[in-house]
Amino acid sequence: MLAHVEGVWKPFAGGTDLMVLLEAGKLPHKNYLNIWPLKELRGIEITKAHVTLGALTTYTEVQNHEVLRQEFPMLCQAAKETGGIAIQNRGTMGGNIVNASPAADSPPALLAYDAELEFISQTGVRQIPYYKFHTGYKQMDIRADELLRAIRLPRATKKLAHYYRKVGTRKAQAISKTCFAAIGRVADGRVAEVRIALGSVAPIPLRCVQTETTLRDKAIDADSLAAAKAALAAEISPIDDLRSTRDYRLKVSLNLLEDFLQKLRLAA
Ligand SMILES: Cc1cc2nc3c(=O)[nH]c(=O)nc-3n(C[C@H](O)[C@H](O)[C@H](O)COP(=O)(O)OP(=O)(O)OC[C@H]3O[C@@H](n4cnc5c(N)ncnc54)[C@H](O)[C@@H]3O)c2cc1C
Repeated sequence: MLAHVEGVWKPFAGGTDLMVLLEAGKLPHKNYLNIWPLKELRGIEITKAHVTLGALTTYTEVQNHEVLRQEFPMLCQAAKETGGIAIQNRGTMGGNIVNASPAADSPPALLAYDAELEFISQTGVRQIPYYKFHTGYKQMDIRADELLRAIRLPRATKKLAHYYRKVGTRKAQAISKTCFAAIGRVADGRVAEVRIALGSVAPIPLRCVQTETTLRDKAIDADSLAAAKAALAAEISPIDDLRSTRDYRLKVSLNLLEDFLQKLRLAA
């Protein structure tokens, strides 16, 4: 259906983003394709190297999954802090990604875990690293004839520190002012591995590659902390909006970076 009449049908998963827009009269589409019953988009598969989540995996399923709780705790925390219980039962990981809100809560965790996305269409299967998916505000690398099928998370082979903080107005039903997710590992007193991603501070969920580069192979001390903070301040572009201000978002993002690095140093 998606391929035959391109751009006419819109996939409808949990509907928790779409229904808000539909009710507000902000959706140009008239035809919605209910993908909820597609079993090919469901389930959590475990292999030696990966954990693969079907795009229709809900937040409740994420939180209840033992391997995800053990190995991807930031994703479970993001799921726990998304909306309220009704949204967690119905909202899907795939919908969160393709809705492409810069304030969404799972994308920073998925970026820090270096997730890959798998798409399906009549022409076959396509895979890309998640950090290449968002190309601009609500712009992304998906065709109208494609469905997001799965999200693949590489399993870590070494013990990592995980740090996730959603800063919102309340503990539930809050849209992030800033959301920070990072993994790290220190070996021989230096940062051996680090991935940092933020939400609500740029037009897209942002993997902070420059900040990571300033930290890699460095000891965590006052100099590397200052360099990392300068890199992060240059890399993000927070704005004033109805939920927060540019200054607050910048300050909190830098504070969270410092807190993450201090915890990473102590965990070493
Ligand atoms: C009250 C409320 C609170 C919320 N709180 C939060 C929150 O705290 N944090 C947060 O991040 N989000 C929040 N959301 C937003 C929403 O719940 C999530 O983004 C959710 O994950 C969307 O998933 P869905 O399955 O409902 O998507 P849908 O609404 O069904 O779809 C969203 C978009 O993705 C597309 N799509 C969905 N699945 C696929 C697929 N497999 N392939 C291709 N395209 C697809 C649809 O066409 C649509 O464009 C909230 C929403 C509400 C109403």
